[in-house]
Amino acid sequence: MSFILRCLDCGQRAPYYPTALNCPECNGEWREAEYDLDTLAKTLPLQLANRPFDLWRYHELLPIRNPNPTISLGEGGTPLIRAANLGMMLGCPNIFIKDERQGPTASFKDRQAAVSIAALKEAGITEMVVASTGNVAIAYSAYAARAGIKLWAFVTSLVPAVKMREIALYGSQVIKVTGSYDEVKKAASEFAQQRNLYQNRGARSVPSVESMKTIAYEISEQLTAYFGENETEDENKAPWRTPDWYVQAISGGMGPIGVAKGFTELQQMGFINKKPAIVGIQSAGCAPMVASWQKGLEVAEIVDDPRTHIETLATGDPGRTYQLLRKEVDETGGAFESVTDEEAFRAMHVLAKMEGISAEPAAAVAFAGLFKLIRAGIIKSDDTVVVNCTGHTMPPEKFVLGDNWARDVVLPEKKSKKETPKEGILAALSHVVPERFPRIVIVDDTTEARLLIRRILQSQGDFTLFEANNGKEALRIIRRETPDLIILDLMMPELDGFGVLDALKSNTETANIPVIVSTAKELTNIEREKLKGQIEALLRKGDFMSDEFLDEVHTIIR
Ligand SMILES: *Cc1c(COP(=O)(O)O)cnc(C)c1O
Ligand SMILES: [Zn+2]
Repeated sequence: MSFILRCLDCGQRAPYYPTALNCPECNGEWREAEYDLDTLAKTLPLQLANRPFDLWRYHELLPIRNPNPTISLGEGGTPLIRAANLGMMLGCPNIFIKDERQGPTASFKDRQAAVSIAALKEAGITEMVVASTGNVAIAYSAYAARAGIKLWAFVTSLVPAVKMREIALYGSQVIKVTGSYDEVKKAASEFAQQRNLYQNRGARSVPSVESMKTIAYEISEQLTAYFGENETEDENKAPWRTPDWYVQAISGGMGPIGVAKGFTELQQMGFINKKPAIVGIQSAGCAPMVASWQKGLEVAEIVDDPRTHIETLATGDPGRTYQLLRKEVDETGGAFESVTDEEAFRAMHVLAKMEGISAEPAAAVAFAGLFKLIRAGIIKSDDTVVVNCTGHTMPPEKFVLGDNWARDVVLPEKKSKKETPKEGILAALSHVVPERFPRIVIVDDTTEARLLIRRILQSQGDFTLFEANNGKEALRIIRRETPDLIILDLMMPELDGFGVLDALKSNTETANIPVIVSTAKELTNIEREKLKGQIEALLRKGDFMSDEFLDEVHTIIR
């Protein structure tokens, strides 16, 4: 393996030893690994064909001299899943999810832990300290256990108890610090210095940043497998594909810095044509990078008291990672964006209910950001987007579900040894009958549109839904069911939406049922005039995920 470290400050090149942390020339803490990319460009493609799809597939591009298979847990090689339902909902069909929940400890920190612990074991380290908002400590604990390294895990007292217990289960010593994450890092640092222990230094530790690169390599290989190689008639065109966007929720920002470095290397080796635009999404209660970027600052402003439930993302002082990430974001035409906790929880529900993917709130922040950027027209409908689903929610924290997420069924007491009488069971079940849910009729002549609206509504609560595929059927169902809300398409054969509205308004039994109109085309002034006072809201198709639509539905139903 040939690699060397280059100092980001003075440019000095020096060999890598995990225990020699600083530049021998200027004592700088920020260094980057360099590889012999010209040689690898020639040798790697042949070798890849015979290797399993995991992180070690790219071991020549990692700062490990002798990869040690005994501590591996099957890290990397996570699936790239096409989010067809989200794509339909957002009018952006090429959304892919890099499912990092499927790593050994269920977050993308597995990559960091696997590579870092391998490097530290190689260097003979037997005891170390990490400061963490949860997932780093979990991942490092698992790999440290395998490698026989004793781990001191410093976490803020706000880290969910389930995560703390997971850390302890692996045999790490959990140190709960009452204070912000930045204070936890200081405490950990102090402790490590006193005891002369190795401390994980986040984005300043070379194996950590390097591990994140493998996400870029995997995404390129997976997109290439999905869409086929780029046409290479043009000599200068590279065979592998890249997305237009890479979107990730960020705290310290190490993930996207590593990912961007991976794409840079792929480009330098001639495997890809261009890097994706890098997007970092933060939680609005702790968004120092977003705020600083929006103000055009060179150095990040610090957030002293993060106000977010999403502890995983509570880095208030990004330090130099802001500069490094900002450079990547600007050079690739990317963006920084923030979302509220509420938007993140909403996205978490949408993702679970529409794609069957249960993400932790921090990961959901990326999806809420995606929704925002698509709505703002920054991400275009024919762009290819990869969102990193960085971690699994296990188990869901209390506050993300709200009340009423379960219904109790109490079965009557058995009178004899025989079975409970059927009537008793039915009576008990009557508490959960769907008749108690708000009733909505969806009227649209295209099956996909009805399915889409159904999915969106189902992702937002419990409704009893009826569908009609034309105006006549709609009137029949509405008269029979007297729903709480109607979602009405305008353009339908025979009896169109205007006809349905006229019929509804001329009948006292149906005249007061609220109607939301959805339309694919721009309306004429005359048409707008006709709708005035008759309907609750007018929506363009593709707008269904807008907060207005969901808020509208909730207010009408309440
Ligand atoms: C660590 C973490 C992040 C933030 O990652 P950075 O690249 O370090 O900013 C996001 N989501 C989850 C689930 C994480 O564990
Ligand atoms: Zn230096």
